[in-house]
Amino acid sequence: MYTVHAIRYATREGLRGQHFLGYDDTWAEPHPTAYYVWLAVSDTRAVVLDAGLEPDRAPAAIAFDCTPHEGVASLGVDPADVDTLVLSHLHYDHTGAAARFPAARRVVQRAERDYWTGPVAKRITREHWLRSESDLATVLAPDRLDLVDGEAEIAPGLSVHLVGGHTAGMQLTRVWTARGWVVLASDAIHFTENLEQDRPGPILHSMPGIYAAYDRIRELADSAELIVPGHDPQVMDRFPRVGPHAVRIA
Ligand SMILES: [Zn+2]
Repeated sequence: MYTVHAIRYATREGLRGQHFLGYDDTWAEPHPTAYYVWLAVSDTRAVVLDAGLEPDRAPAAIAFDCTPHEGVASLGVDPADVDTLVLSHLHYDHTGAAARFPAARRVVQRAERDYWTGPVAKRITREHWLRSESDLATVLAPDRLDLVDGEAEIAPGLSVHLVGGHTAGMQLTRVWTARGWVVLASDAIHFTENLEQDRPGPILHSMPGIYAAYDRIRELADSAELIVPGHDPQVMDRFPRVGPHAVRIA
C-alpha cells in the first residue's frame, strides 16, 4: 500500500483556447494551469511519477514555486533515495529534471521511446517545442532504462498502463492506497474537465487514443475522486494540503 502526493512545482497563466481543442466563444477566457510531479511511497519503495521541469530550461511564462526535487524533499524523501521514476510520456515538462533522481530506474513505454527517437517526430513542426534532445539522451540512457510494453507491474500495488492518445506511448500509473486504486493520469487528461466534458486538449497524437484513454482511466480508478489529472490547478483544492507545494491524494 502506498501514500500518494501531488507536488505542484509551477503555474502558468493561460487561455481556454490553449487548453481545449476546437474554437468556441470561450477561447479567450483565462485558464490557469499547474505543473506537477507525483510521489508514491510504501514501506519499501519511493516512486516518483514524472520528472518535471527546472527553471533554467523553462519558458518564461512558467512561474516556479520550487524545483521538482525540492518538492519531493519537502515531503521527507531524499531524491537520491527514489528508486523508480515512471515517465508517463516524454514531453519536455515531464522529463527535464530526471537527472535530479540519480539512483532511479526510468520506466518508459517502448512505443514512446520509439516515437521520439524515430524519424517522424523530427519532421512534425508542432512536436519540436515538446521534445528535448538532451532530456531524451538522459532518460533513455540504457543503463537505467526499463522499457515496458502495454501493462506492467512495477511493484506490488503499482502498475503502468499504455493508453496512447496524448502521445504515442502515453501511460497511466495505477497505485493501491488506503482509499483504493488511484489513477495518476498525468497528461492523458490535463484537466478534470477533459474527462467530464469528453473534450480533449489540442496537443495530441491520436484522437481515438484520447477517448480510449478516458475509458481506461475510469476503468482503473476506484472512484472519480481518485483520478488525478496532469495540469489541473484544482488538484491543490481537492485534496488536503501537506505543505506549501503538496497535497496528499491518499
Ligand atoms: Zn504532455
